[in-house]
Amino acid sequence: MPLPETRRSLFAADALLPAGWARNVLLEWDANGQLSAVTSDSSPGLNTPRAGGPVLPGMPNLHSHAFQRAFGGLTEFRGAAQDSFWSWRTLMYRFAAKISPAQVEAIATWLYVEMLEAGYTSVCEFHYLHHDADGNAYADDAELALALLRAARRSGIGITLLPVLYQTSGFGALPPSEGQRRFIRSTDSMLRLLERLHPLCKSQGARLGLAPHSLRAVPPDALGEALAGLDAIDATAPVHIHIAEQTGEVDACLAWSGQRPVAWLLDHAAVDARWCLVHATHMDPDEYRRAAASGAIAGLCPTTEANLGDGIFDFSSWRAAGGRWGIGSDSHACVNAAEELLMLEYGQRLATRQRNVGADAAHREVATALTLGAVQGGAQAAGRAIAGLAAGEQADFVVLDPSHVALQGLAAPEMLSSHVFASHRTSAVHGVWVAGQARVSATRHDLHDEGAAAFVAARSQLLAKD
Ligand SMILES: [Zn+2]
Repeated sequence: MPLPETRRSLFAADALLPAGWARNVLLEWDANGQLSAVTSDSSPGLNTPRAGGPVLPGMPNLHSHAFQRAFGGLTEFRGAAQDSFWSWRTLMYRFAAKISPAQVEAIATWLYVEMLEAGYTSVCEFHYLHHDADGNAYADDAELALALLRAARRSGIGITLLPVLYQTSGFGALPPSEGQRRFIRSTDSMLRLLERLHPLCKSQGARLGLAPHSLRAVPPDALGEALAGLDAIDATAPVHIHIAEQTGEVDACLAWSGQRPVAWLLDHAAVDARWCLVHATHMDPDEYRRAAASGAIAGLCPTTEANLGDGIFDFSSWRAAGGRWGIGSDSHACVNAAEELLMLEYGQRLATRQRNVGADAAHREVATALTLGAVQGGAQAAGRAIAGLAAGEQADFVVLDPSHVALQGLAAPEMLSSHVFASHRTSAVHGVWVAGQARVSATRHDLHDEGAAAFVAARSQLLAKD
């Protein structure tokens, strides 16, 4: 039964619209959860519910590997003399080797609850665990993809599912390693999976795309065939790829092709606004200019990039070239939209020895400028109508708690600034709505306790000695 009319509207004394902060905003949405009108300087009807604090657009999380949440915090000790991304990956593979579908679902459900409680309203799931522990297809080849779709549905988060094509262990079509056996798919098998998932995603309001894992994992012919196959299923579907995250990857690509990864991709694939270049950390000035001009999103994952010691993206060069961008929590060392923005800004300050790098011509408050930029770019990467508080977009929004000590007595733009820069350790996210439905109330998701218990049980099983 559709919600009654009065339950499909909200009056906010302050709301962050795509052009900036507005006062006395009436949000109205239809029975499908799509905003039908967003009216500033309005007055609420007698029965119109009122938001308890400033209303922000819901944040899209553009890059997630859900199962990795289960070993957050467990790789923070020194192994090799010089630890790097590659030693982290060894531990990640050990974990990936034994995880079951039920464990994936429990971990993802809790992760999505955490995301919602932290202000994310949708997620792009870069899904590369396809097969059973021996590397054989499950009886239902879509088993693990379906587990992720169920986790999204139960938690209420919006999802763009990106099955990952993974075929080789390095440039030059090196055969996959034993640790990669659960990831590997032929191009045909991937296209069959996409055909199966396409109607299922549609029926739950999810979007389906494709993620060629990286240039080191997908040879050029397979990349071309997979993209052509995707176009036949949905010619506007999102395409995400890990690229230029590590200097080791850049060196290997140069040795293989004579080109850097982003330059190679731009020369060999029709990169456009459907694409999300995840990380894109290591680009030269020409790559910054060309990649920005392609319309692709830079998929920045600041806390994971810091955790893995990847390097620092040149945000100023990217934006100067007109580049669009969004944020992802990737390995989920941190699941908090505000902290992702904080880390992005602080990385830039450390690298440039300047302050307030993320402010722009339209918005001098860094938190406001970064929130609006990440929502716009994240929506484009997700391929879903979630680009903020405007008619035609989904009613995804976050209500901040004006009684939080860090926010009390401040004007709305300062509340957002304090939320991003000064409210650590306790959340100022009070309510979260997805498609016009409240998923988090008074800082808690309905599944909080149950989801946490199932997550802890799954992690304990994974850590148990065989
Ligand atoms: Zn990733």
